[in-house]
Amino acid sequence: MSENNWRESLFYEQKNGYDLIDAEETKLVYAYCEGYKRFMDAARTEREAVKTGIELAEEEGFVPFAPGMALKAGDKVYFNNRGKSLILAVIGKKPMSEGCVIAGAHVDSPRLDLKQLPLFEDTEMAYFKTHYYGGIKKYQWVTIPLELHGVVALKNGDVIDVVIGRDPEDPQFVITDLLPHLAADQMKKTMAEGVKGEALNILIGSVPYADEGKDRVKLAVLSLLHDDYGITEEDFLSAELTAVPAFESRDIGFDRSFIGAYGHDDRVCAYAELRAILDLDVPERTAVCILADKEEIGSEGVSGMQSQAFDTFMADLCETQGVALRRCFEKSFCLSADVCNAFDPNYPEVSEKRNEAKVNYGMGICKYTGARGKSGTSDASAEIVAHLRRLFADAGVVWQLCELGKVDQGGGGTIAKFMANRNIDTIDAGVPVLSMHAPYETVSKFDCWMTYKGVLAAYQEKA
Ligand code: MN
Ligand code: MN
Repeated sequence: MSENNWRESLFYEQKNGYDLIDAEETKLVYAYCEGYKRFMDAARTEREAVKTGIELAEEEGFVPFAPGMALKAGDKVYFNNRGKSLILAVIGKKPMSEGCVIAGAHVDSPRLDLKQLPLFEDTEMAYFKTHYYGGIKKYQWVTIPLELHGVVALKNGDVIDVVIGRDPEDPQFVITDLLPHLAADQMKKTMAEGVKGEALNILIGSVPYADEGKDRVKLAVLSLLHDDYGITEEDFLSAELTAVPAFESRDIGFDRSFIGAYGHDDRVCAYAELRAILDLDVPERTAVCILADKEEIGSEGVSGMQSQAFDTFMADLCETQGVALRRCFEKSFCLSADVCNAFDPNYPEVSEKRNEAKVNYGMGICKYTGARGKSGTSDASAEIVAHLRRLFADAGVVWQLCELGKVDQGGGGTIAKFMANRNIDTIDAGVPVLSMHAPYETVSKFDCWMTYKGVLAAYQEKA
C-alpha cells in the first residue's frame, strides 16, 4: 500500500460540513433555520417555549396525556408540567419494556429575574431590582435593550401573562452603565467585579405622579401597571417576571451562515428535538422529547430534570402496557441534547483545539462534561459512542466529538447525569455555540440542521 492510502485508511480526518453535503441539502439547512428563528422569537422563556411547543405539537396531532388512556403505536401525547416543562411522546411499535429513545433539552436560559419586592425609586427615577438566573457575565447585561416576560399570579387564583417590549410599539427597558469618563476606578476592577449583581437595576420610569407625596415616580409607574394589568405592588410578591435581551433572531454574516439570537442555549437543541419528534412516523421504540426547565441552575425544582415529574409521566406510559418503569429505563437510550462550546479563534488559549467543537463540523457529541478531573459528569460508555457512530453514519449525520475547553480551564454540566442516574444510557449531544450565555449568542445553521438530523436518526434507530 502506498503512503497515501495509509493516510486515508489510518488517520481520522474531519471535514468542513459544507464539503460533505450537496446543494439540495444546503437548501434544507437554510429552510430549517427559518422555522427555528420563528420559534426563538416566540419562545423567550421556558413558559413561552412550552406554550409554543404545545401549539406546534397540537398542529401535528399530539393530545394531552391522561393516566390510564389506551395507547397504540403511532399515538402522540404530551405532558405539560406546570407550564414550565413539556414532555412529548410518540408510542412505538415495540413495547415499553424494550426501552424508549429519549431526547432531553432545556428551555430555560440565563436571564435577569425580578426580585419579589422589585420596585424602588431613587433620584426621581424608578427601577426594578433583579436577581440574575444562571451563569452570566454581568457586564454583558448593561446597556442592552431588555424585554419583560412572565406572569403575575393573583391572590384570587388568576394568572396574568406579561409580555412588554416584544411588540415594536412597546417600550423596552435598560440597565445603565458608568460613562468611561468616570470609570477609572471601575475599569481597574476585574470583569467579575466591574458590574455588581446589586447594580443590575432596570430603569423603568421617571415621570412623577401629580401629587405632593413621596416616591411620586414609583407611584406613577404603579398606576400605569394598575391601568394595564390591574395589579398593585403587593402582587409582585407572587409574580415571576424576568428581563430578557430584546434582540430578534437574525442571520449573521454575508453568507447568512450563522444565527444570532438570545437563548440558543438550549432552545436550539429543544427546537431540534421538537421538530424531530413532530416529523417522526411511527417509531420502532417509543420516542420521548423533553423540554426541561431549571437546567441553568442545576436541574432543581419540580420542573427540572431531577424532579419525579418525568418518572411519573414515564411510569404512567409504562402502566398503559403493564410494564415496570425500571424495566423501561434500563433499556432506554437518552440523547442529552445540550449545546457545547464552539472553538473561538479570538480566545484560543482556553481550548485544546484537537478536542473542541468547530463551527460547521456538525452536531457536537460530548462523551463527558464536568470539571476538575471529570467531576460531576456521567461519562457515557465507549459502547454508547460506538452506537452513535453507527447510527449517524447510516443517517448521513455530520458530527464531531468534543469537550468543553482545556483540562482544568473550567467546565460545566447538563441534564445528562440526572438521566444516567435513572439507569438510562445517556450521552450529551448538541449544537456548538459561540459566546454561550451571552445576551446574544451565535450558532452555525449547518450545526443546527445536523443536530435536528441527529436527533431524528436516534428516534428512527434502524439498529
Ligand atoms: Mn445548556
Ligand atoms: Mn447553559
